[in-house]
Amino acid sequence: MERTFICENVTSNESGHLCFASQDVINLTAKYGTPLYLMDEERIRQRCHTFKDAIHTCFGDNAYIAYASKAASFKEIYRIMKSEGMYVDVVSCGEIYTASQAGFPLRNSLFHSNNKTDDDIKYAMDNDVGYFVVDNEEELFAIQKEAKKRNITQKILLRITPGIDSHTFAAVATGKVDSKFGSAIKTGQAEQITKTALNQKNIKLSGYHCHIGSQIFSTEVFLRAAKIMIDFIADIKNTVGYETNILDMGGGFGVRYLPTDPVIDIKSTIISIGETIKELCKTVGVKLPTIIFEPGRSIVADAGMTVYTVGTVKRIPEFVNYVSVDGGMTDNVRYAMYKSNYTLVTANKIDETCNIKASIVGRCCESGDIIQENVPMPSTVCRGDTIACLTTGAYNYSMASNYNRIPRPPIVMLKGGKSRIVVRRETLSDICNLDE
Ligand SMILES: *Cc1c(COP(=O)(O)O)cnc(C)c1O
Repeated sequence: MERTFICENVTSNESGHLCFASQDVINLTAKYGTPLYLMDEERIRQRCHTFKDAIHTCFGDNAYIAYASKAASFKEIYRIMKSEGMYVDVVSCGEIYTASQAGFPLRNSLFHSNNKTDDDIKYAMDNDVGYFVVDNEEELFAIQKEAKKRNITQKILLRITPGIDSHTFAAVATGKVDSKFGSAIKTGQAEQITKTALNQKNIKLSGYHCHIGSQIFSTEVFLRAAKIMIDFIADIKNTVGYETNILDMGGGFGVRYLPTDPVIDIKSTIISIGETIKELCKTVGVKLPTIIFEPGRSIVADAGMTVYTVGTVKRIPEFVNYVSVDGGMTDNVRYAMYKSNYTLVTANKIDETCNIKASIVGRCCESGDIIQENVPMPSTVCRGDTIACLTTGAYNYSMASNYNRIPRPPIVMLKGGKSRIVVRRETLSDICNLDE
């Protein structure tokens, strides 16, 4: 039976099995075991190309795409980003270390975080991180102090809060005035920190950054952010006399988790934001800065899938069916954390009619350990079946934990009909690695 799933890399075959990147998922679980993260390398590269093509259409060479690596951070992903000529965002010494171990050129990176410790600052400078994205004045002074000690000039962007409610879930909204991130335009703090930055001898202010949230489906929200930022850049030019070289518009492009979610056409979205930026710059009389976008989720989300084996199936008549899997909140905390939606399918029974609904739950000792509720399932679902959770490439592995001392699943990368382990399965002895 021909079926269409939420992304074109998900299909099925004549055995009634789910396929990912044209490979039979049941064969892959036989080879690698479950729970298992699968990733589709071609899809990751295709998404990089889509973003790069779009910015080059608008801005020629005067623009970059920085992959926000917190979405999925492991050595192979930095190797892929390096080979694609992408920049990356890093947010911790751990991400800097991983990128550096993978041979990623860290001069092409931007270092975020709302609280960089003195050790973080030193470590980032040791590794020649290209840009610090500075959140607040206190951090600015700490960077100045360290740069002076080293007798270097550190390039920075300032993180500005444009004062926009992106109408996304509160935990992923970052653009409002009262956000924990950045300096707000409305309160005057954005102008203040600009003046302070310009006065630091060992800091070169390269421009501004904003990131208004995540899972944003409305182009209009990005256009409003662009207008606020460019008006701000013009105000600063007029009042302070500083003209920005770089404008980083952040990430946050929405991803389809359910068939009912809208499809975002990245190319036309970026072009529409880009054309607006060009026009606005002309109107307010500032030079067109180098433009950066920082997609994370939209680069890797639908390039990933998690596969589980079904254990206990529990039916509580008139209430709910529970289908337990051999993973859970330890490999996918997003439903527990944000009530995130996912599409799940019974990978070995893809042609069977789904005539019951079930809660797919994990194996942790927490009632909240739920992958998803109200999932359509065939009534034959039983121990030993294989369940796939689609679109788990972003913020799943990177948020994984060892709660209940459960080892984390491996990541198997798929490409051209071949598969390879890029992160091995954690073992029980790994679990005790740090214990004395
Ligand atoms: C998380 C983050 C991103 C990426 O957001 P996505 O929703 O994954 O695209 C980009 N920039 C900054 C500063 C972030 O914190």
